[in-house]
Amino acid sequence: MLNFPVPYHGELVYSLVARAGIHMGVISPKQLLDDVFGDRKVVATVDLPCHLNKISSHYPASLGLTVSRLAYEHTLFPLYAPFVREDIRRRCLHWMEGKSLGAIHMALGVSASRIRQDRSLRYCPQCMNSQKAKYGEYYWDRKWQVSGSNCCLEHGGLVDASIERRSYHRHYFYALTSKCTQSVIQSNLIEEDKRVTRQVNNLLMKVATKSPTFDQWGVFYRNLAIDSNCTRGEHIQFDAIKGKISSRWSVEFLNRNGLSLSDNQSCWLRTIFRKHRKSFSYLEHVAVLDAFLPNGWNIADVLEEVVRLSAPPSKGKGLFSNEARLKVSSQEKRDLWERYLKKFGVKQGRCKGGGGLYAWLYKYDRDWLLWVNGRYQKHIDVKNTRVDWGERDLYVVNELNIIKQNALQRSDAPRASKNWYLFQVSKTSTIAKNMGKLPLVRLFLAKNVEDTATYQVRRILRAFLSLKEDGSLVRGWKLLRLAGLSEGRLTKKAKRFLKKTITD
Ligand SMILES: [Zn+2]
Repeated sequence: MLNFPVPYHGELVYSLVARAGIHMGVISPKQLLDDVFGDRKVVATVDLPCHLNKISSHYPASLGLTVSRLAYEHTLFPLYAPFVREDIRRRCLHWMEGKSLGAIHMALGVSASRIRQDRSLRYCPQCMNSQKAKYGEYYWDRKWQVSGSNCCLEHGGLVDASIERRSYHRHYFYALTSKCTQSVIQSNLIEEDKRVTRQVNNLLMKVATKSPTFDQWGVFYRNLAIDSNCTRGEHIQFDAIKGKISSRWSVEFLNRNGLSLSDNQSCWLRTIFRKHRKSFSYLEHVAVLDAFLPNGWNIADVLEEVVRLSAPPSKGKGLFSNEARLKVSSQEKRDLWERYLKKFGVKQGRCKGGGGLYAWLYKYDRDWLLWVNGRYQKHIDVKNTRVDWGERDLYVVNELNIIKQNALQRSDAPRASKNWYLFQVSKTSTIAKNMGKLPLVRLFLAKNVEDTATYQVRRILRAFLSLKEDGSLVRGWKLLRLAGLSEGRLTKKAKRFLKKTITD
């Protein structure tokens, strides 16, 4: 493809593809997919896009825009890469080169993450002015799209654009233009946002490097607790750690970012100070480190330190005594379990002779096991007697009510489907798998899930209000285009509503 645009500093691959469409005057989204990817099924992904080999192939080798460089400089991959195991990091890069079919979001914990994804793409109005002055056009900067990082350090709070991150049109790449923006006064910088954003920006500047192991993270956090007088003998004093976090971050901040603290044994803050069995998100690491390290700390320095740590030697009763065993036989066991999965799926695989193998992997190699099980998309039935389902039921309904109240205030919220609700509650996958134990949640969903017809009506109404505001005539085709709907797919109810609103 000739004249494919070169990415600007920090520009998302998503933005690059959208700009390519504009530069080449390609109006049809399908045509754009054909031209750029040679594949009409590519989904427009903002954070962790795949098919990077296709993008890279549009440039001469002399530019050095390899898949790895595109991933590290033009996607949100560097926010996740340092915190997952090295084999997962490599596998993800491999997926980004070609296809992933959603596996990358699962492997990096984005799908099941406690971090709530923002609904819309975001922008900084003053940075946009600078872009226009410098390049004569706008582009989506990746640092505006990071959950938990809500400001531009130079100018103030980020603003929601009128483009949804998970657009109704899955294959559209929307370019940043003045049409996506709204006229609002940019909010002032908030101290907590600034602290997160600083570290997010540091992470985004990192070049591709090997990830620390879970053992190294475990040792690092143990040392951190010892250095900060949060231990008594061998034991970590959880109350002291919790106190440090609470005095550094407001409850509102913690809740908003899915970092709420509880006295539960499985609270993320407790588990991050134990031997690491799973990866933690950039927000979890930042929240802890910022409470423990002196001002001016940099997460890039921490990563360099962690990767140099050596794990304690295996002792009979030591923290990491199973490590050596794991390394020797893990690969064989993984291969064997994958054969079971291919043949029987998770549940049957356990019954048909794979039970012991499953238990071993669950104990020593849990992240991989859960990941691979997810790929075969069968249900994992892990009994957890510690959960108080009655209490959980109430807690989740409360969360759902808050989500609903927030959505009611926005006419541009996406369809409030069952999944849309569930995706936003904490521990989404546990909740989704245990609906049978959550009668209040079921009742809430039955009453509040929005069907397609109601959603279409809401979109027409939103388009109608926006046309009225511009003083335009309300024509049917205009309404539909603005609402992103096609006549053929309208439900009866939406058709009736459309008829009532148009003036021609
Ligand atoms: Zn800015």
